Amino acid sequence: MTVPLCKVGDLWFPDGNLLIRVGDRVCRVYQGFLASQSPVMGDMFSFPQPSEGADMVEGVPAVRLPDPPEEVTHWLRAMLLPWTFPGYPNYTEIDQLLAVLRLSHKYDVQYLRRRALEHFAALLPVDVDNVKANAHHFKSRNISHECPLSVYLRINSIAHEVGALWLIPCIIYELHQFMYDDPCALDNISTESPPLTTQLLIRLYKISHLITQQFCLAHLVRHVADCGQRQPCGAERRVTRSDWDEELHKDPVCFYSGLDEIAEDGKSVACLGRGFEDTQNLCYSCRLDMRARHLHACKIFWNALPKSLGLPMWKDLLATKASDLGDDMKT
Ligand SMILES: [Zn+2]
Repeated sequence: MTVPLCKVGDLWFPDGNLLIRVGDRVCRVYQGFLASQSPVMGDMFSFPQPSEGADMVEGVPAVRLPDPPEEVTHWLRAMLLPWTFPGYPNYTEIDQLLAVLRLSHKYDVQYLRRRALEHFAALLPVDVDNVKANAHHFKSRNISHECPLSVYLRINSIAHEVGALWLIPCIIYELHQFMYDDPCALDNISTESPPLTTQLLIRLYKISHLITQQFCLAHLVRHVADCGQRQPCGAERRVTRSDWDEELHKDPVCFYSGLDEIAEDGKSVACLGRGFEDTQNLCYSCRLDMRARHLHACKIFWNALPKSLGLPMWKDLLATKASDLGDDMKT
C-alpha cells in the first residue's frame, strides 16, 4: 500500500481488530462491536471480502467504506464514543446529525437513526402549534446552526433518502420563507440533484399557491354583527393592505405568533397580526373574529399541505413518524 494513511486519533483503539478505511483516513475499531450495532456490517463481515476491499494493514484486516470520510468518522464516534452524540434536547452539530442519520439508516443502526430523527423532530414540527412555538422561541436550540437555507436543503435530501417524509412539509414551509424574502435563494437549489431540484421547485410553487388561496386579508377581516365602530371595521385603509398581505403570505402560520406573550425584557413581543389590527383600527369584536378566522385558515392550510405537495396524508406521515421515533412501541 503506497497511499499514506492518517490515523484518526480518537477512533484508534490499539487492541482493535478491524481497520476501517475511508479516503486517506483509517480507524482501528472492533469488528464484533460494530457487527452487534449494525446488522448490515454484521453481514458484510460474515462474507469474504471482495479482493478490492480486502486489505491488511500491519496484520489487521481492513475494510474500505465508500462513504464520505467526515460522515463515517461522525458515525463511528456516535457508536464508539456515545457521549459525542447525545440525544435530544442536548446540543448537536448539524454535520454530525446528518451524517449519523444517513449512515445509521444505510447500515441499519436503528437506535442512532432514531436519536438523530428525534433532533430533527424538534426542529421541524408536524403540527401548527409547534410551528408557531418554534418561530417564537428560537428554533431548536439543540442544533448548533441557525439553519440557513443550505441546511434545509441538506435535510430535505436526507429526509427523502431515509424515508422520513414527515419532515418534508415543515422543510418546504421553511424554504418558502427563504424564497419569499429573496427569490435569488432559488439559485442555491440547483446544487441539489436534478430530480430533487425539480421536485423542490414544484413544491415551492404549490405551497405558495396554497398559501395565497388560504390566507387573504380581505377574507380574514370581516365586519362582525356586534362591531363597536360607527365606520365598520375593514371598510377603510384597504390600500395599505398589500404590504400586510406580503407579510401574511411569507409566514402565514406565525402571523399571530407571540400574541399576548411577554419577552424576557418585560416588553410585549412583536406580533404582526396585532400590528395589522392596530393600523386598521379594528374594534375588539372584529379582532377576535379575525384571529378565529386566521386560526381556522391555519388548520385548513396545514391539513391540506401534504396532499398539495404530493406527499401521503398527515395520518400516514404521523404513523411513519411514530414508527421512526419508536413511539408506536410505547403504547
Ligand atoms: Zn369592528
